[in-house]
Amino acid sequence: MNHDRGQAGPAAQRLIEDIRSIIPAERLLEGEPMSKHTSFRIGGNAAALVICSNEEELAQVLKKCSSSDGAEYMMIGNGSNFLVSDSGYPGIMIRLGGDFDSVSAESDNGDGTVYVRAGAAKLLSGTSAFMTEHGLTGMEFASGIPGSVGGAVFMNAGAYGGEMKDIVTSVRLMKSDGSEIIELPAEEMDFSYRHSVVEDRGLIVLSALLRLTEDEPAEIAARVHDLQNRRNAKQPVNYPSAGSTFKRPVGGFAAALIDEAGLKGYRCGGAMVSEKHAGFVINTGGATAEDVLNVMRHVRDTVYSRSGIMLEPEVRLIGCEL
Ligand SMILES: Cc1cc2nc3c(=O)[nH]c(=O)nc-3n(C[C@H](O)[C@H](O)[C@H](O)COP(=O)(O)OP(=O)(O)OC[C@H]3O[C@@H](n4cnc5c(N)ncnc54)[C@H](O)[C@@H]3O)c2cc1C
Repeated sequence: MNHDRGQAGPAAQRLIEDIRSIIPAERLLEGEPMSKHTSFRIGGNAAALVICSNEEELAQVLKKCSSSDGAEYMMIGNGSNFLVSDSGYPGIMIRLGGDFDSVSAESDNGDGTVYVRAGAAKLLSGTSAFMTEHGLTGMEFASGIPGSVGGAVFMNAGAYGGEMKDIVTSVRLMKSDGSEIIELPAEEMDFSYRHSVVEDRGLIVLSALLRLTEDEPAEIAARVHDLQNRRNAKQPVNYPSAGSTFKRPVGGFAAALIDEAGLKGYRCGGAMVSEKHAGFVINTGGATAEDVLNVMRHVRDTVYSRSGIMLEPEVRLIGCEL
């Protein structure tokens, strides 16, 4: 039966009432459609979406969430790697804004290396634009990834030979019960392909200290422009999606395996394997989460039976599974 997971159960309802004393009404959105907050433009309602604008608010909200009697909660960044079930999410989605949407140079040690502090809510595009403007190189690879700094650190996002781990010096994090703030050096972030310690320890990214090198702004801008052109030429940027649907398997590329299996254009309802880039499942209009899952299941099973390689989803599945 298709029950509305987004409808708050009694525990979530009590938690929402508690959060009302911390967060003003315009940033506590009850029954919020997740299709409005995900790049796939898909997903039922969350019981509530709460936007925290500073560390104090976030700590208070997390304390309420972690001491609640059974209500679920989770972080959402820019929603560009999310597939939320059609029946929604029965708990609290926490998003960062306000003070977290910031970027500034922190120190310049005189040898051409500059450290920049980027807040978790700052988009990679805006962070990269700041670097270009200030003549700082190292982050060009991330300029076209439509995520936030928080989501990119969580995922160790990467493209065109670069990954967040290459530029992160340390990360400021809050424990998931709001009790403590810690700053972990990059060596303790356990970064690997699309993974970091943030997931394992259920931590919240507050900001990241990034290490860049001085360079000519015009040259940086030219590299950003070149990567954007390459992205536009190869990826279905005009359709809603969550980027690469599956992780790169050991010893291969998901897109190549999907293409070789003849699956470009395979569709269920409004969801389709992109004709332009087999690694992307796109929403051609009105796709449901179930449509996307059905495409993913068929792709996974077909690739497995042809190659013996089991593709693993890169997109985060919320309230649903393959
Ligand atoms: C068109 C397109 C192209 C893409 N290209 C690339 C690419 O080239 N390379 C790449 O790596 N990815 C790519 N992606 C995927 C996506 O943009 C990245 O994974 C990105 O890092 C996700 O960031 P986000 O802010 O949207 O995170 P979300 O999708 O909102 O969240 C991702 C995960 O991070 C967690 N999270 C978010 N913020 C925080 C926080 N502050 N603290 C703790 N946890 C948090 C969430 O709970 C979730 O588990 C692409 C997506 C699209 C739509």
